Amino acid sequence: MDILFSTSEAVPFCKTGGLGDVCGSLPVELSRQGHQITLVLPAFRQVFHSGQTIQPTGVEFEVPIGRKMVPGRFLKSFLPASKVPVYLVDQPDYFDRGELYGEDGGGYIDNCERFTFFARAVIEAITAFDLQPAIVHANDWTSGLVPVYLKTELQGVPPFDSIGSVFTIHNLAYQGNFWHWDMELTGIDWKYFNWRQMEFFGNLSFLKSAIAFADVITTVSPSYAQEIQSPPLSCGLEGILRYRRDDLHGIINGVDYSDWNPASDPHLGDHQYDHVSYPVGKAACKQELQRLLGLPIRAEVPLIASVGRLAEQKGFDLLAEVMPHWLQHVNAQWVVLGTGDAKYHGLLSDLAARFPEKIAVKLEFSNELAHQIEAGADMFVMPSRYEPCGLNQLYSLKYGTVPVVRSTGGLADTITDCTEQSLAERTASGFSFEPYTTVALEEALQRARSAFANPVIWQQLIQNGMQQDWSWASSARQYDQLYARTLSLSAGT
Ligand code: ADP
Repeated sequence: MDILFSTSEAVPFCKTGGLGDVCGSLPVELSRQGHQITLVLPAFRQVFHSGQTIQPTGVEFEVPIGRKMVPGRFLKSFLPASKVPVYLVDQPDYFDRGELYGEDGGGYIDNCERFTFFARAVIEAITAFDLQPAIVHANDWTSGLVPVYLKTELQGVPPFDSIGSVFTIHNLAYQGNFWHWDMELTGIDWKYFNWRQMEFFGNLSFLKSAIAFADVITTVSPSYAQEIQSPPLSCGLEGILRYRRDDLHGIINGVDYSDWNPASDPHLGDHQYDHVSYPVGKAACKQELQRLLGLPIRAEVPLIASVGRLAEQKGFDLLAEVMPHWLQHVNAQWVVLGTGDAKYHGLLSDLAARFPEKIAVKLEFSNELAHQIEAGADMFVMPSRYEPCGLNQLYSLKYGTVPVVRSTGGLADTITDCTEQSLAERTASGFSFEPYTTVALEEALQRARSAFANPVIWQQLIQNGMQQDWSWASSARQYDQLYARTLSLSAGT
């Protein structure tokens, strides 16, 4: 089947979070399974610094944005080690900027215009390159207008009227909501600006619009697909999500093991390891990481890691309360790699200054260090308030780093709490807790620390995790079935 992916992130071109990992790897697996996949991606500044070969196509275009015509051109590349073409939408005024979506904690003021342009460019790509997609698979609010154009302006217009649309929600909290007058920028008829379709509490919402118009909606874990149908995780969209619940599916994200595998990870130097050789390899990685971070080199002290966006979503308000106490009283080391809210930057820097022997804080985005942390840490903590899927816990399993997670969304779907029963069944893979409280988090961390002190239990946890298979193969097959269902649905509309 011919499938066109519309996304604003794809590894290795550009990434701020899980969206980039997913859209860089799922298309490759789908193509391996026999589909013809094409990606369309904004040519952000990061794309040009990604080290990928980028070629001109000679194709230029112009699309209406409000009353003006805005020019753009397509560049071309490929997803590495694949035949998946990537068309890059080049428009320097919109995309040649320091960040992808905004700076200093806020979105760029013209985000509506930027991603209206992007959606129109995705549609342009179809005719410019004579693509014949059966399905357009759009991801997150930044591609939200793609299914809308297909079902409004392009309804009844060949070849667009026979294209089915799938929309994936990677995080419902990022909605692309704009002032209602921005409808003018989209060129879409005002009749669609109503509470069932594009209007959301008086604003224009790209995310709600996509949910309203896509043939099929997916999100990135079965639990999150349920959770977003009620407050608070519905973020105000429970009405439309319940209305569309028969078309809403949860498919867990897979891992790209060509990128995240301690047996072949180039970031680990000579210390690569697998589920047999980990006692030596992982110990060496831990030593190397402690050296790199300036922490005392101590094998017997558990090293607890966190990598990710420093946002409330990720449970940093809980960690901010638990960490000072642990740093003072508990014999454990911590490493935090992340960027995000200024308040957590301040708080973590302060802890690093007060407890240099116990915590290393890196306020940066470093893919290499993220890999080294997965390999060198003993535990990976994710006390998320909500988690659509979460990838770090899956990377942790593969690297023999035991996850300590809050049981929500994808974390609930992927981590089996360590209990007497799960140990007996050899399914235990981490530690999880439910109430969003510091007490519950501390209790889970304490259980993990006790298990760390018991080599028999700890080895089992490591081995259980390392032997699990969270590769894309099975999730890609679920997408495949959904694409078929989408075609039958869209044929009926
Ligand atoms: P989300 O998409 O909500 O940010 P995920 O767990 O799904 O969370 O994916 C996060 C991805 O981004 C992981 O691949 C993680 O390693 C990466 N990541 C996040 N912050 C950083 C950082 N500061 N440095 C390196 N990688 C990071």
